[in-house]
Amino acid sequence: MNHEKMRIAIDIDDVLADSLPEFLEAFNRRFGLQISVTEAGWEIFRRHPGIPPEQRQAFFAELYQADFLGSRPLLPGAREGVERLHGEGHRLFIITGRLRQDRDITERWLTQRGLSSFFQEIVYRDGVQAPLHKRRAAERLRLDVLLEDEYEVALAAAELPVRVVVFDRPWNQGPLPSRVFRIHSWPDVFPCLDQQTSLHDQPL
Ligand SMILES: [Mg+2]
Repeated sequence: MNHEKMRIAIDIDDVLADSLPEFLEAFNRRFGLQISVTEAGWEIFRRHPGIPPEQRQAFFAELYQADFLGSRPLLPGAREGVERLHGEGHRLFIITGRLRQDRDITERWLTQRGLSSFFQEIVYRDGVQAPLHKRRAAERLRLDVLLEDEYEVALAAAELPVRVVVFDRPWNQGPLPSRVFRIHSWPDVFPCLDQQTSLHDQPL
């Protein structure tokens, strides 16, 4: 199939990697809680301000010790999907909510899974919250498409002339703007791209 060549950014956690459910499980285990996966989120400590900072630090120290970020399994179809996008001539980027301090772990993870050579640039987060970080990166990279799983990020990115493709997860339910597609698996990415024309040339 002959796609228009596009600039596509891909999220790592819960788009390429299976991450948030196990993070939540570790959080629940550590603090004796039963937060449901529908309520999952990376910034979960903001919702539980009663947990003392030293316990929070100990939790993250344990995750690093267990190589949490470096040991995430690939999601089904992710590698094949990236290979196919690259093979079709699209320019691929990663925009991750992971911090710059996690760059070495993350690049090792990508290299070990044979993915690093497909991407032109990896954009890490620098302090600001994920929706703003990703919207800014999407704008700077002049993206056509963003593949993402976080609801707030999808809404923020949809303010730009960017087609947002959201992988359906229990934690990202809710109404989405018209240029956001909700999909269920990697093979679903491709029909979305077939419908895709560059939004940069269209009135909004
Ligand atoms: Mg994610």
